[in-house]
Amino acid sequence: MQRIFIAATPGLCRGVRNPNTHMFALVLFVACYFRTAVAMQNVTLEKYDAEVLILGAGATGIAAARTFHEHGLEDFLILEGSTRVGGRVKEVEFGGKVLELGANWVQPGDPRVNPVVALAKKYGLKGKVSDWESRMVRNASGNDISKEGTAREKDLDKAMDFSHKLAWELLRDNKSDISLRAALRLGGWNPKTPLDKILEYLHVDFEYGDIPYVTSLKSSAAVNNGKAFFVTDQRGFSYILKAVVDEFIKEGDPRLKFGKVVTHVKWNDRGVEVRCHDGTTYRAPFALLTFSIGVLQNGVVKFEPPMPAWKRLEIEQFDMALYTKIFLKFPNGTKRFWDDNEFILHAHPRRGFYPVWQNLEARGLFDEGTNILLVTVTGEESRRLEYESDDFIKTEVMRVLRHLYGNHIPNAEDITLHRWSQDPLFFGAYSNWPVEVSTEHHKRLQANLGRLYFGGEATDPEWNGYVEAGLFSGRREALKILKCRKKDCEIYEPKDCGKGDCG
Ligand SMILES: Cc1cc2nc3c(=O)[nH]c(=O)nc-3n(C[C@H](O)[C@H](O)[C@H](O)COP(=O)(O)OP(=O)(O)OC[C@H]3O[C@@H](n4cnc5c(N)ncnc54)[C@H](O)[C@@H]3O)c2cc1C
Repeated sequence: MQRIFIAATPGLCRGVRNPNTHMFALVLFVACYFRTAVAMQNVTLEKYDAEVLILGAGATGIAAARTFHEHGLEDFLILEGSTRVGGRVKEVEFGGKVLELGANWVQPGDPRVNPVVALAKKYGLKGKVSDWESRMVRNASGNDISKEGTAREKDLDKAMDFSHKLAWELLRDNKSDISLRAALRLGGWNPKTPLDKILEYLHVDFEYGDIPYVTSLKSSAAVNNGKAFFVTDQRGFSYILKAVVDEFIKEGDPRLKFGKVVTHVKWNDRGVEVRCHDGTTYRAPFALLTFSIGVLQNGVVKFEPPMPAWKRLEIEQFDMALYTKIFLKFPNGTKRFWDDNEFILHAHPRRGFYPVWQNLEARGLFDEGTNILLVTVTGEESRRLEYESDDFIKTEVMRVLRHLYGNHIPNAEDITLHRWSQDPLFFGAYSNWPVEVSTEHHKRLQANLGRLYFGGEATDPEWNGYVEAGLFSGRREALKILKCRKKDCEIYEPKDCGKGDCG
């Protein structure tokens, strides 16, 4: 019990761990004890609304609920701030089609080990394996430079192979991490031309949502380079998550509540109380928080007591990458003016300037005449554009397209995008590992605070940034809660307390 008091009370309680300061420790222990006791009184213990509160109905929350259901624990309550299931797996109806604003690719894998692949198979999700060979590279004036691109890519491939091997070596020998940029340079790749930059962008930024300077080499070791499946299903990618929910939560079931934006979380070693923006409160002996790292970084949820310094440190040091998909609809009857290839790369001197275009009429995707083009921006370009109006973006995009295809092309009649960085339920697209995140850091990100548990894609060290991470982390935390109900609770004790980050 005492360990919980120490972990649960920020700042002052660090001294208790130092064997050289017994008197000081005694005084602080008493102080810590009373601070925690006061906090604990705030969570009423007599009346619970459920056995477990699941905060968020994205992949993580759904996986947790399903795990509880499978283990016979039906007394859970899911509180979701939006009006839908799916979180960052989010579709939109645009230009006569259902399109994915968030997650779009199912990563390749064996359905026996990859739960997203298994669900996609089970529910017959429609789409197509992306053909990365079907590619056109154009420079800023629109000239076809694909041949030069293929030649240059051989050097990049060598550097990527080198980096991949180095990543595994660093992991195996427990050596310090370096950035992906440093590894690529070591592998002989140092991009200077627009062509080099766009090729590298496709391999790095388009995957991580971030530049190679900030991306951890070690994290890149886990990246699966197989063939990803691009979802075009008109039920939406989120259908597979909704279908999971439908298996055990019927329509109108009061255990799934929408429009409940959580603003306050009180926690201790006996329970959790959450307050929502509509003034309602819910209490339970356990709660699982699944919000993105972006939500936690932006202080929109207040914790009482505040999270200890070691937990805050991990939350702050993870990066919330940005990835913005801009769909353009051209008037019906427009004769397609863009290339037939599935991917069109824009080699512009400004790295990441409307870099990767997807021809949604490429074979196996949507029908010819759909007249929808997709361009994706990431990182700083996302940050810039997500603050601009649709009109501004449309004008800028059309200028780029006219450079590529000539002045005769028609204007897009409409565009759509989701401003992930400004959405208070996400504050970004997905997590990206910064350099030097160790196993210990991951443990801290996952560690429960008393009866408050932490899931979400960022907390899965192998699959972070993908839907798989949500499903794995939801199950992981649900199993921990089930174990704790049997009096076998995990308690994380921060290490390295001399360094001032364990408060
Ligand atoms: C643009 C983009 C592209 C992506 N591409 C891919 C891809 O191709 N393939 C892939 O596998 N993954 C992709 N991802 C990542 C994938 O979508 C996420 O990793 C995964 O969906 C995260 O699930 P989660 O349950 O951990 O978090 P979320 O989906 O964020 O779920 C958390 C839930 O909590 C709710 N919530 C947040 N704050 C509050 C609050 N205060 N109160 C109440 N509820 C709250 C949210 O509404 C949400 O429903 C992409 C994501 C984005 C944004």
